[in-house]
Amino acid sequence: MKLYNTLTRSLEAFEPLNPPNVTLYTCGPTVYDYTHIGHMRTYVNNDVLKRTLIFSGYKVKHVMNITDVGHLTGDDDRGEDKLEKGAKKTGRSVWDTAKFYTDFFFKTTDALNIIPPDITCRATDHIKEMLQLIGELEKKGLTYKTKEAVYFDTSKFASYGKLSGQKLSEKLKGARDDVYLDPGKKHPTDFALWFFRVGRFKDHTMHWNSPWGDGFPGWHIECSTMSMKYLGETIDIHTGGVDHIPLHHENEIAQSEGATGKLFVRFWFHNNFLMVDNQKMSKSLNNFYTLDDLKKHKIEPLAIRYLFLQSHYRQLMNFTWESATSAQEGLNKLKNIVLDLKKEKTSAKNSAENYFTKRFNDALSNDLQTSQAVAVMWEMLKTNLSSKQKLEQLFEFDKVFGLNLEKTSEEKIPREIIQLVEERKIARQNKDFKKSDELRKKIKSLGYSIEDIKNNNYKIKRN
Ligand SMILES: [Zn+2]
Repeated sequence: MKLYNTLTRSLEAFEPLNPPNVTLYTCGPTVYDYTHIGHMRTYVNNDVLKRTLIFSGYKVKHVMNITDVGHLTGDDDRGEDKLEKGAKKTGRSVWDTAKFYTDFFFKTTDALNIIPPDITCRATDHIKEMLQLIGELEKKGLTYKTKEAVYFDTSKFASYGKLSGQKLSEKLKGARDDVYLDPGKKHPTDFALWFFRVGRFKDHTMHWNSPWGDGFPGWHIECSTMSMKYLGETIDIHTGGVDHIPLHHENEIAQSEGATGKLFVRFWFHNNFLMVDNQKMSKSLNNFYTLDDLKKHKIEPLAIRYLFLQSHYRQLMNFTWESATSAQEGLNKLKNIVLDLKKEKTSAKNSAENYFTKRFNDALSNDLQTSQAVAVMWEMLKTNLSSKQKLEQLFEFDKVFGLNLEKTSEEKIPREIIQLVEERKIARQNKDFKKSDELRKKIKSLGYSIEDIKNNNYKIKRN
């Protein structure tokens, strides 16, 4: 299997360190606001990666963190703690805020049929381990302390910048002028490992004792800590959004490799952004769509999953409600095919099956070309394979797609629709084709279509 590795900026053959086991770490949500469609794309793509690995016979151990402290509104030590901000906005405590948005996150990922991680771990449950890691870094001479924080000294870590491909000098030049600067901070790229409860943080709700003083952890230290605690010092794959490359992931590498002297992550897997109507998602445009918005537009969460499968994870993707609607139609069509195939009882064997399995595998093994895999599925459904073979093949493919096709069941048709269909049948018997046509249109506008079979019989399907 070939995967694009951000670290080497190339496609590489993926082999885990200890086959058949794969260690996988995902940067989880900061639980201060609703999970939106941009997050959904990232987590669906991570899930497709995980499912592909499982499909290929690997045993995946997957860990994801929940950030409930220390992530500032500016990723680079600027601003305020996102959790404190979320709590102010909702009027709840920071702990209740974290719980509320964590629940919403998992409600969303469940609806998208995302396999839960084997271990989900909260930053606030790992303060002790984070302090140990900061202690290690201090012993190695990689930290310094100011009145405001304990910092990682990036000038002491020779390979700082290797993930983004920027040398420290370039990073320093690129650092923004308006970045809040602690007067004691030595270089703009240095980052906080531990903030003290002073100055702008004097009222910080969540705080703990530490050997350096009362305070709370920086954002980056939690991922180094939990990844190494649960998966070991060197892991196979670490996933996240492309926005994490220059700061968060660069800093995770510095902390982990600074402490252990070993390679932290072998493959860095990064998902590209989702645009909405060709614009960046933003508060002012109010285009952070959530599960509830999908519901309002009569789009099932799994239709969004199907939509995401049609673009490559490293490409920028543009979301529109039209594309979501056509994905919903595509998913409905697929479900109708499943129902039809279940009813047919042909059993003729055809040897083309392996041909499709191979092409499906080839597409996914080539850095997860999901849209090609979807095309292989449609092609397979149009062949003369027996219905039994098609179903088996489809359900096999769906282990990676995750569209829950095996659970497709006959939907109860509402009484109103059945009545209209009966009226239409009578109109047709009376050869009143104008009325029958009107009724067909009405039924269609209500989300159903009629397929006429022989002898004035019909099938009702969802559009
Ligand atoms: Zn992280």
